[in-house]
Amino acid sequence: MTGTPRDYYETLGVNKTATPDEMRKAYRKLARKYHPDANPNDPAAEERFKEISTAYEVLSDPEKRAQYDQGPSAFFGQGGRGFDPRGFQGSQGFGDFADIFGNLFGGGSGRQRQAQPQRGRDISVAVNLSFEAALKGVTTKISVPKSVRCESCGGSGAAAGTKPVQCPECQGRGVTSQNQGFFALSQPCARCGGDGKVVETPCPTCTGRGVTEALKKYTVPLPPGVKDGTKIRLKGKGEVGVRGGPPGDLYVVTRVAESVLFQRRGADLVMDVPITIAEAALGATVRVPTPDGRVALKVPAGVRDGTLLRITGKGSPRLGREGSGDLLARVSVLTPTELTDEERVLLEEYAALRDEDPRAGLPGW
Ligand SMILES: [Zn+2]
Ligand SMILES: [Zn+2]
Repeated sequence: MTGTPRDYYETLGVNKTATPDEMRKAYRKLARKYHPDANPNDPAAEERFKEISTAYEVLSDPEKRAQYDQGPSAFFGQGGRGFDPRGFQGSQGFGDFADIFGNLFGGGSGRQRQAQPQRGRDISVAVNLSFEAALKGVTTKISVPKSVRCESCGGSGAAAGTKPVQCPECQGRGVTSQNQGFFALSQPCARCGGDGKVVETPCPTCTGRGVTEALKKYTVPLPPGVKDGTKIRLKGKGEVGVRGGPPGDLYVVTRVAESVLFQRRGADLVMDVPITIAEAALGATVRVPTPDGRVALKVPAGVRDGTLLRITGKGSPRLGREGSGDLLARVSVLTPTELTDEERVLLEEYAALRDEDPRAGLPGW
């Protein structure tokens, strides 16, 4: 034993009255943080990990904990009754440890972790669309460069007539172990990369990787009503999975050009409708463009600048649902400029006739 061991409760960051459940939680949190797999080549973390593990091994056993609580002399004293950490690697206690690591890190025990199948990566492809095409819906063709399973070897990476064989380095376990102090530290096998198998005669097409690059073409129907940034998922059309894992997904992301007339507001469209002061005062019927062609819009007499007039059902189709949004015509009253002498006289006559003060009676004026 070197020096006085740190207090086990302190090591786990719990107090002396901690319940087994509290201790287990504290232990798991710390073990995850300091586990050698999470801190490769960090001797300080490894040391800490051993301390944590030793502390938990003692405190999680009611008998050992009771003994420890009586004081260091009772626990570490001579006589063979005390807990000897050097003894527990081969003891039954280690089995519990392996279980805990199995839960902590997933996939088998902490000592034998073979590389697991991995889902292929997702791919994202942008598609440019005109504003009109986004409203109507369109079928587009895309070419996607991606990794696919090698057809020559079926993904095994082995040349025709051969098969991958068990890795001689790790005997197919995918990990190699090293005894270090109390623990057998394991790491992915450098020879096979954790697969547990190696290819002796690589497939010439994929040079043993089992995957090749290919340009895949897809015809993608884009539904009516897509917006800038809408994502359409093509399930399973992403990159090929690793070690037999499922493929990723392909996302088609729409990039929709702006319109000179319309702005999207959800399924509604907003457009500006310029009118003269005479039309605003007297009312008018204005022919306005919509995505479906022109319609007559009745502008009521006395309309104010900025008023939104609703043309129902002339907006964008609702994406993935029935029906369409509305077209909102925003009234923009134009103030006349560069008046002729005659116009000026008429407006002055009009003003004299009205003889009004629009600010009279306003609060604060
Ligand atoms: Zn191949
Ligand atoms: Zn290996």
